[in-house]
Amino acid sequence: GDVNEFKDFAKAMVDYVGNYLENIRDRRVLPTVEPGYLRPLIPETAPDTPDTWQEVMSDIERVIMPGVTHWHSPKFHAYFPTANSYPAIVADILSDSIACIGFTWIASPACTELEVVMLDWLGKMLDLPKEFLACSGGKGGGVIQGTASEATLVALLGAKAKTMQRVKEAHPDWKDSDIIANLVGYCSGKHSTTGHAGLAGGVVPLRRFKPNTPQSKKLCSAFICPENIEEDLKKGKIPFYVVATLGTTNCCAFDCLEEIGQVCRQKDVWLHVDAAYAGSAFICPENRYLMKGVELADSFNFNPHKWMLVTFDCSAMWLKDPSWVVNAFNVDPLYLKHDQQGSAPDYRHWQIPLGRRFRSLKLWFVLRLLGVKYLQEYIRKQISLAKEFEQLVRSDDRFEVIYEVLMGLVCFRLKGPNEINEKLLKRINGNGKIHLVPSKIRDVYFLRMAVCSRYSESSDMIYSWNEIKTLTEELLKEEKE
Ligand code: PLP
Repeated sequence: GDVNEFKDFAKAMVDYVGNYLENIRDRRVLPTVEPGYLRPLIPETAPDTPDTWQEVMSDIERVIMPGVTHWHSPKFHAYFPTANSYPAIVADILSDSIACIGFTWIASPACTELEVVMLDWLGKMLDLPKEFLACSGGKGGGVIQGTASEATLVALLGAKAKTMQRVKEAHPDWKDSDIIANLVGYCSGKHSTTGHAGLAGGVVPLRRFKPNTPQSKKLCSAFICPENIEEDLKKGKIPFYVVATLGTTNCCAFDCLEEIGQVCRQKDVWLHVDAAYAGSAFICPENRYLMKGVELADSFNFNPHKWMLVTFDCSAMWLKDPSWVVNAFNVDPLYLKHDQQGSAPDYRHWQIPLGRRFRSLKLWFVLRLLGVKYLQEYIRKQISLAKEFEQLVRSDDRFEVIYEVLMGLVCFRLKGPNEINEKLLKRINGNGKIHLVPSKIRDVYFLRMAVCSRYSESSDMIYSWNEIKTLTEELLKEEKE
């Protein structure tokens, strides 16, 4: 199309987006459409001759918005947050315009080099050990992955390569297939991504650590068991990979990283840290006690695209020794070779796909235009909103808060059987004024209230709580009848 038309269209879109986001609170957070709602709203085939951008714009409210779940509404409390901010949106316009594929340094030097430096900036914001940072001059460095799941898989493949080499040196007569068959990895969290990584990585699904005793509902979700590893060693297994979770998906529990890390160091097992959601909170020094022991890890990952105002996808990963991953992925056909090879990371070796977007621009814009202090205050405010909601729940003795509130997540339930809680949640989501998802731990079903929106205020906590209380009263009344 014509550039003047592009400029008009883009300006109109920027106006639309600004209005959408600033007024998002007024929309029903959950759509009411039925499956299949969309097909009848648009033609059966693509147009032969172009529509106008004005026609396209006018279809957004008609076709798209009725089927949107508004993740950035302060009435959205499901899952975990996914980030959104104006600097990140603008950065993506630039990234989509440069539209390079940054698989080698020469394919766009800025794409690689900004990423190296941004991961150093970010690592310093979290006070990560310098062994993880490229600026330390050692082997370590960071990379942006698409998702935490990819980071878990990438680390697993590095761990596998490292262990294969160690075992083969000790037992040159062992076949690869026999070694692989005996590899065993461990995780604490129940997150499906870790299981996927085990399967996709061609090793058995990762074994779970025994969970901690039920009365300690606080920090340690995994009761790290040197016994797990000892037992497996005795059986001839080869422990090679542990994923420790800081901030589990279902209840935001934290593994005892220090304890797990010491076992990993003793047994030469790769320790990967998945801090997908909670990692952003480590930009605030007061939360860093939860990542004590991080110096014992081999790789560390968190998602700025969850809680640090950088839009999806931006999953930050650091490796102390990326050479294991690089060797596992090395793809070097002639057309990807270049003269500067080795002087800067060729990030294609650090990830699963070959192609990669210029994602570090989003980080650069967000960090510069918001600044570290603002981001710290943002995290603090979201945690304090969760604590406000917690107090509202605690003020009503029909309810219980079942895990300590450390981040922006409150896990709560109506005292009593699971069924009544299931009914309550169905009502909440059916009413569509607010949106929550449940979870279940040791057969106890509960509701999760995550503070997700950057627009969230105290009044939103009160609004959501009042909605829950009203529907509870209706439900309890009906149950009595
Ligand atoms: N790990 C944890 C602890 C998570 O909470 C989540 C998502 O909520 C993930 C991994 C998956 O993240 P991604 O969608 O980036 O793979």
